[in-house]
Formats: sequence, C-alpha cells, structure tokens
Amino acid sequence: MNNLLEIEHLQTHFKTEEGTVRAVDDISLNVRKGEIVCIVGESGSGKSITAMSVMGLIEGPAGRVAGGSIRFDGEDLLKLSRNELRTIRGNEIAMIFQEPMTSLNPVLKIGEQIMEPLMEHQKLSKKAARKRAIELIGEVGIPRAEQIADSYPHELSGGMLQRIMIAIAISCGPKLLIADEPTTALDVTIQAQILDMLRKFKEESDTSILLITHDLGVVAEMADYVVVMYAGKVVEEGEVVELFENPKHPYTQGLLKSKPIINQRQDELYSIPGQVPNPLELVPSCYFHDRCAHCMDICRTKQPALKQVGGQQKAACWLYEEEAIAHV
Ligand code: SF4
Ligand code: MG
Repeated sequence: MNNLLEIEHLQTHFKTEEGTVRAVDDISLNVRKGEIVCIVGESGSGKSITAMSVMGLIEGPAGRVAGGSIRFDGEDLLKLSRNELRTIRGNEIAMIFQEPMTSLNPVLKIGEQIMEPLMEHQKLSKKAARKRAIELIGEVGIPRAEQIADSYPHELSGGMLQRIMIAIAISCGPKLLIADEPTTALDVTIQAQILDMLRKFKEESDTSILLITHDLGVVAEMADYVVVMYAGKVVEEGEVVELFENPKHPYTQGLLKSKPIINQRQDELYSIPGQVPNPLELVPSCYFHDRCAHCMDICRTKQPALKQVGGQQKAACWLYEEEAIAHV
C-alpha cells in the first residue's frame, strides 16, 4: 500500500504571553491508501492540532507550523498557496468535527450547505447539486431526504447533524477523511451507527481515514494502525492488534488498563495518576516521567527517541534502550 499522507517532523507552535507552546513537537506519521489511522491521546496531546495543521487551519499571529513537511498524494501541503489549498480542502481532503453545530451555518438550509462544495469543487449546476444533495442525505441514512434538505440545522438532532456533516464531507469523494472526535458528543447507539457508516464508506470508496479520538473503544473498533500522542510527541505506534496485545510504552500500558469496552462511550481515558505536564515547563526528558512507575534517572534528563521495538511497533521509552540499561 502506498502512503497517501506523509507527515514528517511536523512542528506546530503557539506563542503565548508566557512563552512558546510546542503543541506538536516533531512528529512523523503516515496514512496509507484505504487505511484507518487513529491518533489517540488525552486532551492537550496535540492530536487535534496535528489534524488542523494538515488542513491548513493553523493561522493567525499566534499559531504557526514551524517545521517539517506534510505530503498529500505526493504534494507538500505546506508549500501550497491559500487558493491551491482551498481546492484540496473539502474536495480531496475533508474533515468532520466533534460539534456539527459549529461547522454548519445556522441560517442556511441543510440542502444548500451540502450543495455548496458540489457546486464549488465538482462544478455541478444548482439543479444537479440539489439532486445529488438529496441522494447524499439518503446515503447517510436519513429518511425523508427532500424534507430534510429544506430544514435548518436547529430543526435536526445532534446525530442527524453529524450524518449531514458526513454527507458534506463525502460529497466530493475525498481521498482522505479527517475526523476529529466525530462521535464524542453523541450517545452510544448513534455513535455506533456513525462509526459503521464511516467504515462502510471507507470500504466502498477506498478512502483513507485519519481518526482522532480519546476513546480506546473507538480505536479498537476502527483502527488499522494506531498512533499514541503525549504532550505533543508520538510515544508509541503500531498495528492495532500488536499494540493492544502488547503495548510497550508505560503510557499506552496505562491507557489500556481501562479495558476499552466496545460500543460503550468513555468520557475520559483511564486516569493514570498525575497530570499532563505544563507545556511551558517542558525540559529535555521523557515528558511522561512524573507519571511513570518505571522512571529511571536518564528519563528525567534525556528525551527518548521513537524506535522500533518489534514488528511494526515503535516506542519512545528508555526501557528499550541499551543506553538506559547501562545507567541502571
Ligand atoms: Fe517511563 Fe522512562 Fe519510559 Fe518515560 S522513558 S515512559 S519515564 S521508563
Ligand atoms: Mg481535540
């Protein structure tokens, strides 16, 4: 399988009054064609910022992509102009967010909002776009599609709105779908239906999905490949079965202690004692050291690199380094 998305050494920084926050701190990851990659981590781990960096949504004076490259289908997205990026966004790369209400326009009818990308990117006529919009509403499992097309967002439930967001996202047949906590705000039954729909869409169209979640149940159900982020870094990655059966990094091991229950929503990850470090106070070290039961001297003063620890699995932890063993 070829890589559709290749992120290399990405750094996304935010300036605050107290200093620079390295929200994404030198991460690399690939998404292959037809694959679902899940990024999992607590809030503040940098997973949403990674997605927003791919979408070119880090803008303004405070935030910027400070380094690295993001190649999509062979092209470096960071080198594209705003206009070039706009032709890719919503067309070849589409995104679904946690809160559909914040992405939909409250004063535009649902049908019109689905028609917009069809007219802009696919150059459909108004009539053809309306016809396709109504088909799409049916495809995401909403009955009485015509009536729904003429409704306003506030007239629909949260689950229906998320289906509409999916209809908009898939309308142009994207090669990559980025979904940031797409089911977090929904109840368990609706969540399962939405995930099924995404998987079915992926299977039928061979679209790749980058799925961001804090919910290990979602990861277990959806992922081919998992990337675990902590404090802006990738701390472990691997094929889903490998990683769930034999997690190497103490952070991943902690997360998995909360046996994910499939189809059951988890509001919080299992609470590993302690807190995510203050991003302004990070010093060269393993950022997890304050919370790690295996912490050694070297962990407090040197950052472990992400290295192969068997199969496709990689972990960033001194436990797997000979150098560390020599220090014990
Ligand atoms: Fe724990 Fe050290 Fe590994 Fe960090 S590097 S996870 S502190 S053992
Ligand atoms: Mg987030």
